Amino acid sequence: MQHETDDDIAPGILPALAQAAEEFTSWRRTLHAMPETAFEEQRTSAYVAARLASFGLPIHRGLAGTGLVATLQGARGAGPAIGLRADMDALDIHEATNLPWRSDTPGKMHACGHDGHMTMLLAAARHLSADPDFAGTVHFIFQPAEENEGGARVMVEQGLFDLFPMQAVYGLHNWPNAPFGTFLGRPGPMFAAFDIFEVKVIGRGAHAAMPQRGIDPVLTASLVVAQLQSIVARAVSPQEAAVVTVTQIHGGDTWNVIPDEVVLRGTARTFTKEVRDLVEQRFRAVVEGVCAAQGARAEIRYERRYPALVNHGAEFAHALDAARLTAGAGAGAVVADFEPIMAAEDFAYMLEKAPGAYLCLASGPGANLHNAHYDFNDALLPVGASYWVNLVHSLLRPAA
Ligand SMILES: [Zn+2]
Ligand SMILES: [Zn+2]
Repeated sequence: MQHETDDDIAPGILPALAQAAEEFTSWRRTLHAMPETAFEEQRTSAYVAARLASFGLPIHRGLAGTGLVATLQGARGAGPAIGLRADMDALDIHEATNLPWRSDTPGKMHACGHDGHMTMLLAAARHLSADPDFAGTVHFIFQPAEENEGGARVMVEQGLFDLFPMQAVYGLHNWPNAPFGTFLGRPGPMFAAFDIFEVKVIGRGAHAAMPQRGIDPVLTASLVVAQLQSIVARAVSPQEAAVVTVTQIHGGDTWNVIPDEVVLRGTARTFTKEVRDLVEQRFRAVVEGVCAAQGARAEIRYERRYPALVNHGAEFAHALDAARLTAGAGAGAVVADFEPIMAAEDFAYMLEKAPGAYLCLASGPGANLHNAHYDFNDALLPVGASYWVNLVHSLLRPAA
């Protein structure tokens, strides 16, 4: 698959980074070819560590297993410390491209561009190491297990912000199918909180022709699915966003038997703590109420996964400044009122503990994230790396 590139984005792309684009591309493709999923990023971690060591950076390994933090002191004296974070993991997807650098592991693939995220941060780390013309400290954070398993939470629990105190932390994600080189973000909630649920509806099996002798969990589960839709429609304010989706119904084996039980599974997405609490509370009440009305019983497992990703106001403004510097002043180069996304992102855990901001960087037309035909657009590498360098230079300016 060929990517669109755009030769005249560039006002804020650092020439040294633009000139090294081919080298960055080869790093990215090396990482792409060796995808590893949650907490198993051994080869990836070794590769990143070797690169960071070649820049002369001290490296802390072992946070959340395969996670790494490399630290660079500015040459212009004391100043604040900031963290820049890239995720490292791949997905359980069988790559469908025929690219020479396609996955070497059947069933696993870098389909979310984390290979590109690591490369952009490595490129910035090399550039800044060669010329640490700033005052303060930069921590380059390489985080495992962004997909599903919350590697960011584990890094935080294992002391990320105690071992490496920092005033702010920043993240970046590529974003296909928006104009190439555009930075996208919003202050406040940007990605949704993500919860999962499983409900066992327990009735009493019976002959299908004699339903009066049983308690029908199939009918009860159907009523539950329908009634759950009243939560978003009637309990959540029309001004707020929420989703409750049942994605699985399992029960029954044959034509003429009412089974003992039916299992429902699904997910809920929300943006604020209040709505998240409300949805869980209404969820339990609806499931228990509907089941009780049918004489059935409910066993509910409701698990809170990632919190909502909430950008902090001041740090979001700083991130936008660096984005504008990088993208230039062209119309559409920076979108500061990006529509919130119902998907989840575990950088949210870091933003719960430290101020910071997360932006998306548009990669132009191509396959979407989590698609078997996806490939990170290498033309984005010098753009993302320049953003990181511009962010460091604008946040860690030496006192005049
Ligand atoms: Zn993803
Ligand atoms: Zn991702």
